[in-house]
Formats: sequence, C-alpha cells, structure tokens
Amino acid sequence: MGTTRLPRPAQTVLGPDKDTFLPTENPFEQMMSRFDEAARRLNLEPGLYRILRMPEKQIIVSIPVQCDNGEIEVYTGYRVIYNTSRGPAKGGIRFDLQVNLNEMQALAAWMTWKCAVVNLPFGGAKGGVICDPATMSNGEIERLTRRYTSAIIETLGPDSDVPAPDVNTNERVMAWVMDTYSMHKRHTVTAVVTGKPVAMGGSLGRREATGRGCMIVTREALRQLGRPLPGCRVVVQGFGNVGSVAADLMAKAGMTIVAVSDKSGGIHDPKGLDLTAVFAHVKERKLLKDFPDGHHVSNQELLTLDCEVLVPAALENVITHENADAIKAKVICEGANGPTTAAADRILNQKGVFVIPDILANAGGVTVSYFEWVQDRGGYFWDEETVNSRLEKIMVQSFEEVTAMARRHGVDNRIGAYMLAIDRVATVHRLRGMYA
Ligand code: GLU
Repeated sequence: MGTTRLPRPAQTVLGPDKDTFLPTENPFEQMMSRFDEAARRLNLEPGLYRILRMPEKQIIVSIPVQCDNGEIEVYTGYRVIYNTSRGPAKGGIRFDLQVNLNEMQALAAWMTWKCAVVNLPFGGAKGGVICDPATMSNGEIERLTRRYTSAIIETLGPDSDVPAPDVNTNERVMAWVMDTYSMHKRHTVTAVVTGKPVAMGGSLGRREATGRGCMIVTREALRQLGRPLPGCRVVVQGFGNVGSVAADLMAKAGMTIVAVSDKSGGIHDPKGLDLTAVFAHVKERKLLKDFPDGHHVSNQELLTLDCEVLVPAALENVITHENADAIKAKVICEGANGPTTAAADRILNQKGVFVIPDILANAGGVTVSYFEWVQDRGGYFWDEETVNSRLEKIMVQSFEEVTAMARRHGVDNRIGAYMLAIDRVATVHRLRGMYA
C-alpha cells in the first residue's frame, strides 16, 4: 500500500539494472527457472508440468547423537524424493552446514534430470544432515550416520531409494548406511547404497567416475570446438573427489592444469602446476594452503583466471551475474551441482562460452553407481576396464544427445539437457498414466 512498485514475480529479486527481475539464488528457483524454459519449449501439458515441479516426498528428521563428551546433540536431516517414475530414487547424502530443505529439493530434482539425461532407469533424490563433519570425531559421524539411516529407513531399499556419497560423505559413510539398513532387514543388502568400498560390493572405478566423466565430456567439447587437448589450460575449483580426479585425468589426457583450489584457497601457475607435488602436499596436510609453489589466489580470483577450460567442482552458485562477464574460459565443465546461476547463464551465452551443464558433466558418478547397483543385484562383478569403457560410451552418447537437442532447438546446452531429461521423464508419465 502507499508505495507504487513494479509487481514482483514470486521468488525473484530486482536485477542490478533495477529494471528486470532475476531469480533468487535459491537453488530450487534456479533449477525451476531452467525447468520452466525447457517445459515451455517442449509444450509440456499443464498437468504434467504441475506434477514435475513438485517433489514426490519430503522427509525431515531430528537425529539425536551422543557426542564423545557425553552431551546429546540433535541434528536435522532430510531426504527428498523428487520423482520415481523411471525407477528407484537415486542420489547422494551430504553432511554440510549449508544443507537446507530448499537445497535438497533442488539437488533431488537435478538427480532426476541427471539420471534421465544419461538414460539410467532411476528417479532422483537427495539427502543431507546439517552438520560440520570437520569438527566431529569418527565415532560421532558414525553414530550420526546410523541414526539418520534408521530415521529414514522406510524410504530406503534397492527398489525404492538408493543413496550414494556426496559433499563430505564417502565410502566409509556408505558402509555404515549399508550395515545399518542390513541390520534392520536381518540380512545383508548390498544394493541399498552405491559408492561403497569395493570389498563389500562397491564397484571398481566408482570413486573416479565423476571426475572421469568430466574429463570425457570436456574432451568431447574441445573436439567439437576443434581445439586440440595439448596446450589447453585448465582451472579446477574444488579438490575433492570430483575436482582432484578431473584434474589428474585431464593432465593425463595432455591438458595443462594451471590452477586448483579447495576451501582454503587456490594455487596458480600459468606454466602448469606440478600435480604430483600438489597431491603429495594434500595427502600430508589435507588442504592446499601453504603449498610452496605458484601464486596463491582466492576462490573468487580463480574463476576468472586466463584458461581454456574452467571446472567448478565445489558448491552451488559460484558463477553469478557478478563474475560471469569476467570469466575467460571457453569451456565450463560443471563438476559441481548447480555452480552457475540462471542470470550468469545469460551472460555466458552472450559471450559464447560452451557450458557443459552439471546434469551432464557430473553424471559419470551416478552412471557408475548404476553399474554398482546392477553388479550387486546380479552378484557378478566387472573388471575396471569394463566399467570405464561402459562409462565412456554412455558419457559420449549423452554428450552427443544433449548438444544435438540444443542445436535442434536453438538453445544452450543446459536447456538442451533439461529438454532431453524432461521429455524422457514425461514420456514415462504418459505411458504409465494417472493412478487415481
Ligand atoms: N552425489 C552424486 C551426484 O550428485 C552421485 C549420486 C549417486 O551416485 O547416486 O551425482
């Protein structure tokens, strides 16, 4: 009342030009703004649109944990099942202070589109607990994992919902999830989680799969752009399971890694970093901080360094309308989920940057998770070469399908990937019909 204002569409903020509205950097809205555009271009029926814009099921649990000092701490955990029309829900569990319901919804939706882009018979889910595992002992993390697993046990199962590692979770955490679930079921159920240790039903090649997938699609993008790999300078943000493996495999493929970073900051050497020394340093000191060679740069500075390929492999919303214009990379390979905002996409498109969207770029992990689930259910395990060559085939084919879709509709690769995914999910909904 009183003041006259432009009508503000829901979930937007006034852009820097004070004239247009931008989606808020709330991850679900970021996802929805792309979903809306793809759905519109696909002429998705209004009813299906309404179904696909909502998660199927959302679970919020309180997780009491006895700390080592005897105190009881209560954590909040989530599991969001976005869509299961194509098969069991699939998606990681993260332990992080940034976890919240909105982020879980976005990540669960992204898992749905990701599994559909690479054509796996899975739906999408994501789980998480608000906590800082860096400040917790192994015993506390184990008790948290087991209590969280038992709190969401009704949703879990090889045919219903299959978790995997994500930010700050790993093989050991998956082993505890598998053991807790199996204890409740009174028999061993290996296929209830993926990303487990190889000794207990994990797959060879799973640990490297996301980074390997990033390397494969980057190679394909450079091939499409007619740029040879040798001499290609690569900047990687994030040195966890995705970034460190992507950097290693890209270097092995002939590219030059000029900068890497982790939460402690980045290191840059325009002539190329000695990755063996970087890995040795991280193994001993955990963080890149204090690495003796190269220049130290902040995570912000790192994104705008001179390079051909940028691999954001850390968290959401790092490439925004504020820094997109300063990005020099010709190719962005999104190792992380949701690293680029919708407003930044528009700027990158205008600059002609070739973006390999997250739901394609980092799909190598869930693809080998699928292989792991297949191997567990069949009780017969493949050698690493078989895993890697099957991964290669799926990534190359998906890259071709996404870029062909984008070309056919005159859209960017991200909208092309969403269109491919939404079309596949929608087709199954139509075939299955409405259960009333
Ligand atoms: N957390 C990974 C992702 O975001 C892997 C999920 C999975 O393997 O289920 O894709």
